[in-house]
Amino acid sequence: MSETQTVTPPAATAPDVGGLVEDLTALLGPDLVLTDDRSLDKASQDGSYLSPILRAQWPIGRPEVVVRPTSVEQVPAVVRAAVRHGVPITSRGKGTGNYGQVVPLHGGLVLDLTALRGIDHVDPEAGTVTAEAGARMMSLEKRLARDGSQLWMYPSTVQSTLGGFLAGGSAGTGTIVHGRNHEGFVEALDVVYAHPDAEIVHLEGDDAQPFVHTYGVAGIIVRATVRIEPLQEWRCVYASFDDHHDAFSVVPRIHRLDPAPRLCSADGAHVAGCLPPDEAIPPGRASLRAIVDASVVDRVSALVAEAGGVVEAVRSGVNESIKVSTLSYNHPTHWLQKAEPDTWFHMECQGDALVERLDEVEAVYPGGTLHLEAGHGRMFGMLNGHYTDPDAAYAGVPVLEELGVKVHSPHQYRVDHGTEEVRALAARTDPYGLLNPGRWGS
Ligand SMILES: Cc1cc2nc3c(=O)[nH]c(=O)nc-3n(C[C@H](O)[C@H](O)[C@H](O)COP(=O)(O)OP(=O)(O)OC[C@H]3O[C@@H](n4cnc5c(N)ncnc54)[C@H](O)[C@@H]3O)c2cc1C
Repeated sequence: MSETQTVTPPAATAPDVGGLVEDLTALLGPDLVLTDDRSLDKASQDGSYLSPILRAQWPIGRPEVVVRPTSVEQVPAVVRAAVRHGVPITSRGKGTGNYGQVVPLHGGLVLDLTALRGIDHVDPEAGTVTAEAGARMMSLEKRLARDGSQLWMYPSTVQSTLGGFLAGGSAGTGTIVHGRNHEGFVEALDVVYAHPDAEIVHLEGDDAQPFVHTYGVAGIIVRATVRIEPLQEWRCVYASFDDHHDAFSVVPRIHRLDPAPRLCSADGAHVAGCLPPDEAIPPGRASLRAIVDASVVDRVSALVAEAGGVVEAVRSGVNESIKVSTLSYNHPTHWLQKAEPDTWFHMECQGDALVERLDEVEAVYPGGTLHLEAGHGRMFGMLNGHYTDPDAAYAGVPVLEELGVKVHSPHQYRVDHGTEEVRALAARTDPYGLLNPGRWGS
């Protein structure tokens, strides 16, 4: 059935989980159908530990069964069974999403796609790689490097899955040049709709885009074709500074270099001191880490020196790039919270005011400390502050906006990208409202 055909939703019936478990066991064998407490607990967790506001709402959902298909072809059969029994389906990759968006709010079935790891086809001429939904971003990047190519982008959670990054993530290493994951990264998707006669549907170009960053509410991604490019000769530059104002002032300058950097992150001494130990991140000093083209290392070194900094190390190779990536985006917040539990919350911020009005931005929250990234065309960052309560956290948003900073709250798990279009699409592709339900509204 195509997504344009009309599906008449059945009268509401109670989900029959017992019947589903029986059918799935007959279909896949008992080893791939999990109902033990440990598996159900694990499938109830994600990266929302980073938000004290979401943490206070835990537990927000727990599945009744987890299924772990071992082939793409098994997925439509699993979906048909779930639809037949009226059981909600939440797709799951590595479960690192930040906002509780992978936690099954209405219980039911968690469809764990991590065993679908195949890398089907690398096509340097077309500039694409095709892989199964559970392929790890890090495995893709390493495999491509061997063939002289690289992903357009990958997130700091390098162990996360391709399907999870597309459905739940947004940006990462490579974003400076290529934007976010819904801005041309995806060439094609194979998806499964929640229809009684579900099959794999191939979508290309614009038809594939509504499935990006919309949490799997309109379809389950089983395979994706995403953009790659020729491997550049990258160098990982680590620099340190007495003062984070100096470190941050260098980020926009590195951002403007030609060729453009792949990543550029900076932290004050406090956050830098919480990162995993590395001699290139000396204690008590602000830290800048960048992945830059080999041809501009001298220019980067000059910019660092001009701002009073010291280049601590210059490293090369795909493993080093991946390591620098794991210190970017939400990861400094993760390390800060790990070092000082129950102290911090953060807001996602964008705009050049992050550098130009740094003192005012950091003063918005008590203890305010900004993690800075060079984003696509502008500065991006995580503003960490001491947490007291949700009202105080949200009260800072208009103050930041007044300073010229665009704020995204990472403390909610509703679809907030192309919402109306995706909702209209989901009405056809998921007529019974079974796919990751509970994601609409404010
Ligand atoms: C410390 C930390 C750092 C992070 N840094 C980044 C970062 O740099 N950039 C970034 O973009 N994100 C970041 N994130 C968020 C998250 O890690 C990434 O978006 C990650 O790529 C999600 O992949 P996953 O496999 O863990 O997906 P999951 O968490 O398992 O799923 C994410 C969402 O996608 C849905 N989903 C998963 N697989 C599928 C599928 N096959 N089909 C349909 N829907 C599916 C899930 O239901 C869920 O809504 C970070 C999170 C943490 C905790």
